[in-house]
Amino acid sequence: MKSFHPPVRTLMGPGPSDVNPRILEALSRPTIGHLDPAFIQMMDEIKQLLQYAFKTENELTMPVSAPGSAGMETVFVNLIERGDKVIICQNGVFGGRMKENVQRCGAEAIMVEDPWSSTIDIDKAEQALTDNPDAKAIAFVHAETSTGTRSDVEALCGLAAKYDCLSIVDAVTSLGGIELLVDEWGIDAIYSGTQKCLSCVPGLSPVSFSERAARSIRERKSKVQSWFLDLNLVMGYWGNDAKRSYHHTAPVNSLYALHESLLILHEEGLQNAWDRHDLNHAALVVGLESLGLKFVVDKEFRLPQLNVVSFPTSVDDAAVRAALLNDYNLEIGSGLGTLAGSVWRIGLMGFASNKSNVLFCISALGNVLATQGIKVEVSKAVTAAQAVYSA
Ligand SMILES: *Cc1c(COP(=O)(O)O)cnc(C)c1O
Repeated sequence: MKSFHPPVRTLMGPGPSDVNPRILEALSRPTIGHLDPAFIQMMDEIKQLLQYAFKTENELTMPVSAPGSAGMETVFVNLIERGDKVIICQNGVFGGRMKENVQRCGAEAIMVEDPWSSTIDIDKAEQALTDNPDAKAIAFVHAETSTGTRSDVEALCGLAAKYDCLSIVDAVTSLGGIELLVDEWGIDAIYSGTQKCLSCVPGLSPVSFSERAARSIRERKSKVQSWFLDLNLVMGYWGNDAKRSYHHTAPVNSLYALHESLLILHEEGLQNAWDRHDLNHAALVVGLESLGLKFVVDKEFRLPQLNVVSFPTSVDDAAVRAALLNDYNLEIGSGLGTLAGSVWRIGLMGFASNKSNVLFCISALGNVLATQGIKVEVSKAVTAAQAVYSA
């Protein structure tokens, strides 16, 4: 056996996304103790930078030492107790995982289902709240990565406030890519991931809780069933007390990487990052449509960071993705769940959302489609996308 040297890919799938070289360099800095005063100071900066990224003043804001799925689990196991009722608005794969989490907490999941690739229907959500006045929380996904659909978090949180229940938001794919205003929208509990629009290494999950949610955790009747994710214990390490105590060994180098990625986002500015995602998305739409591909989601609800397109039925899905990977070192995503085999998911997340990736993807995909017998004019498609940038 030899050292592992991964191929150099361009990552335009549903995550992980291309990691900025600045972040990879930060990752390789010397490891120090996770209770070293220098490290603790950096942890405080991470909390401040996360508050900036989430647009929140929430004290209880920190990264969980595990991927987005663990952030999801952290939110549910801490807020939900046996016998609680939680309304879940599902319009894709990840809403289904929320249901699993709620049921495994011994709580009841009230499902409000919308068709995949549709946004969450606000009226149906309100009806569920009217029918279940005892619901403890309403949970939903901001950016459904399985379908490329955006939902109206502000309106859904407005309903949560009106019916006096907690709002739980999955922002794994939205943080850093599209507008997300935790305090202004009244989000009570939110979790994200590092490997999507933050373009950091996978394996960490930023979370944030409002004061109301934090109180609900402090006032639990039962112990959180997960020792590792119990925030009452985790806060001994991540809390504001001068004395930090050992809970688990923090992933020291991954946290250097997160610090660097949040610093990059702060330097660019949230609004600029959101605008950049919009512009690159606009150019990709023009190019892909010129190749004859169809966007699945209605324009109004599309995610700029995750583009879902259907392709002609004569096209061999797996062969196209294999050719892109082998001949172009380009990764795009396949369809998930009910969309498997009929769509591609093309990510323009974080560092990967740039002009050269857009033009590269259009030309590579166009060339591969031509080998599948599809009539395409690749240079015309690239020129059309170019024109979006010069407009
Ligand atoms: C990727 C993703 C997750 C899970 O994150 P992992 O880091 O893979 O555990 C959860 N929700 C959404 C919407 C996602 O896109």
